[in-house]
Amino acid sequence: MNRLLRIFRLTLKYRKNLWLNLVFGWFSTFFGLFSLVLVAPLLEIIFYPQAQALGLPPVWEWSRQGISTGLAYRLQLLSQNYGPQGALLAVCLIIIAAILLKNGFHYLATRHASVVVNRSTEDLRNALFKRLLEMPQGYLTDSRKGELLARLSNDVQDIEFSMLSVVTAFFRHPLHIATYVATLLWLSPALTLFLILFMPLTGGVIGLVSRALRKNTRMAQQHFGRLIAHLEESLTAMKMIRSFKAEPFFSGRFEAENRLYTQRRIRMFRQADLAVPLGEVMGVAAVAAVLWWGGAMVFSAQISAALFITYIVVFAQLIEPFKGVSRSIYDAQKGVAALQGIEAMLEQAEAQDLPEGQVEFAGLQTEIQLKNLGFHYGGEWILRDLNFSIPKGKTLAIVGPSGSGKTTLMNLLARFYDPHEGQIWIDNKPLAELKLQDWRQKTALVSQESLLFNDTIAANIGLSHTALNQTRLIAAAEQAHALDFIQEQPQGFQTVVGDGGNRLSGGQKQRIGLARALYHGAEILFLDEATSALDSASEKAVQDALANLAGSHTLVVVAHRLSTVQSAQQILVLNAGRIEEQGSHAELMEKGGIYRSMVDLQAIK
Ligand code: ADP
Ligand code: MG
Repeated sequence: MNRLLRIFRLTLKYRKNLWLNLVFGWFSTFFGLFSLVLVAPLLEIIFYPQAQALGLPPVWEWSRQGISTGLAYRLQLLSQNYGPQGALLAVCLIIIAAILLKNGFHYLATRHASVVVNRSTEDLRNALFKRLLEMPQGYLTDSRKGELLARLSNDVQDIEFSMLSVVTAFFRHPLHIATYVATLLWLSPALTLFLILFMPLTGGVIGLVSRALRKNTRMAQQHFGRLIAHLEESLTAMKMIRSFKAEPFFSGRFEAENRLYTQRRIRMFRQADLAVPLGEVMGVAAVAAVLWWGGAMVFSAQISAALFITYIVVFAQLIEPFKGVSRSIYDAQKGVAALQGIEAMLEQAEAQDLPEGQVEFAGLQTEIQLKNLGFHYGGEWILRDLNFSIPKGKTLAIVGPSGSGKTTLMNLLARFYDPHEGQIWIDNKPLAELKLQDWRQKTALVSQESLLFNDTIAANIGLSHTALNQTRLIAAAEQAHALDFIQEQPQGFQTVVGDGGNRLSGGQKQRIGLARALYHGAEILFLDEATSALDSASEKAVQDALANLAGSHTLVVVAHRLSTVQSAQQILVLNAGRIEEQGSHAELMEKGGIYRSMVDLQAIK
């Protein structure tokens, strides 16, 4: 119930439409009821076509007695003037009018319901995507793409469906039931006793089955998430799958997960399919009970036959909304399960959120310092006891074998993660105390794959800046040594780079990535193997760009080819997460340690 309320809360922003849905829904119920209550006079005419002598018109009274004598009088009047056939026609016309109104109002009600449902879902999707954009990197990288995709697509849709159910289960049906029950009470309080005894029984049975349903739904949604993860992984790895003929292995993995998912779905359907027949059986049982008891009342002349039949007709109409409520509660369980999944995901992400700092950061004054830094991905230490400093405007190079923790270190410097031990100090303030936005503004991480998207060069450099400053654009491109080749492109800055930038060479892409960082005002650049995938000529171009930035920018460069790092003021040799050697190129060559042997090795090649 609590969670149903949470789904309902999503719709509260559209209160106005909710109210209109409710009001129109009630009118629809009212006219439906009205058409049914007209059954009694209809029966009177059929059973007693002979018009009786008319007395004086009765005084109009708002009681059952008053209304029925009033109606009876008017019918007799009709019957007298136009014959029983004419009276019948009049009643039929009124019934048609009532049904027309009932359905017209029903249409209006559903119109507003669909606004509520679709708009709230739109809000939910937007909110989730916004949250996704600011989720901690640590959460996103743990191979959760599939789960995220499933949550954002499938689960949101489940919530959307259930929202409609919740809106009807909470408002329309209860209001409908209340109106009908009130009418029944008004028609015959004695008979209605049955109904009141019957209601909690129905509620109990529905509650029991729906709990089981929710559990299965939750499981099914989890399996679906894994299914999407398989799909995503296979799409990314398609070339590998084909070249290793690994299709049977991958389809086997998919089929196994798909089977688990399907089993849960079948169980879910079974439970949901139980809802409707169960509701109907209970409803018909109640009608039968009323028939039996009410029939006895007619025999003993406590109520008239026409009233009894009207009662039965109105009563039978209650089965629908009761079935509706149970169906809605089942449908809503899906949404509740989906909401649970989404909430769990958000909580997990939140647990890994980086704490937001408060100190403003306008630019590096003196140096970045690492003190006793340690980091792990939940297991062994990946980095340990790191102590070094990067003075402003200087270049620090980091070299070391693959897996020694270079990328991890860069991610810590860019603050995608926080260290587990020690601290990074920025001008004598811990990095974690600075405003993250400010830090991101002044720094940029450029990695091996430059991430270009299919748009113009200008848009790729400017990103969120829609109104591009032309002078700055050119200056940034020039600083990144990219201006020459950009101007040689057919449309200059307006050239579209193709999917993932595939119309440009690797070196050009990297320099556009660099220009992007510079355009956005980054003064501290972290380059993680930015030149490793490039051929020598492209590497030279990027190196020249970096040399251009030395002095005005603080650079931390991870490089595989040692020729790139020779000019750095300070070189750090990382091995298994610890600093093995540090010094300038000349000093390290002199020393004759690992660095020296690495240089020698590359020189031989
Ligand atoms: P490098 O960039 O020097 O090659 P990395 O920083 O990428 O090294 O990785 C250092 C170590 O951390 C490796 O042993 C790697 O297996 C591990 N590692 C990297 N990323 C993750 C991660 N997201 N989760 C768990 N372990 C990781
Ligand atoms: Mg790396």
